[in-house]
Amino acid sequence: MPDFLSQYGTEAQCESALEKVRWRDGFRCPQCGHDHCTVFCRGQQPLYQCSACHHQTSLQVGTLFQASKLPLTTWFLAIYLITQAKNGVSALELMRSLGISWRAAWRLKHKILRAMLEQEADRVLRGRVEVDDAYLGGTRSGKRGRGAAGKRPFVIAVETRPDPEGGLPH
Ligand SMILES: [Zn+2]
Repeated sequence: MPDFLSQYGTEAQCESALEKVRWRDGFRCPQCGHDHCTVFCRGQQPLYQCSACHHQTSLQVGTLFQASKLPLTTWFLAIYLITQAKNGVSALELMRSLGISWRAAWRLKHKILRAMLEQEADRVLRGRVEVDDAYLGGTRSGKRGRGAAGKRPFVIAVETRPDPEGGLPH
């Protein structure tokens, strides 16, 4: 956490990180492809105006963060918390850690999970693949196990590789 905060603790650090990912080789106008722009600030947010076609864009347009009122520091911290947690993070935990409403925490969590899913969508599992089925939810009392009311069935598949040190596959 201290390492994370020293790198992404301020809005300027997050903006700079996002800029590096979005425009790795410098600004590129999404409208005409021109590579020069003027940067000015509207409110807190920097706007990039293309020098050729005058199209205005921001770092957030076309990303996960578009149209969000939350600062990038909140988003980055949420991404950190979600990706570091071994057993998932509830919206309630995010609400407490980020100091935002439960509804905002819930929406943020689902947007991040969807982005992670899209990122992985094209990945093809290869080699040794292990598959299992399981059930999620089902807080109502009654029938246990398969077919119990309110439970959502799902299948999970993972690619496992031998441990380089000769232990169990992971
Ligand atoms: Zn342009």
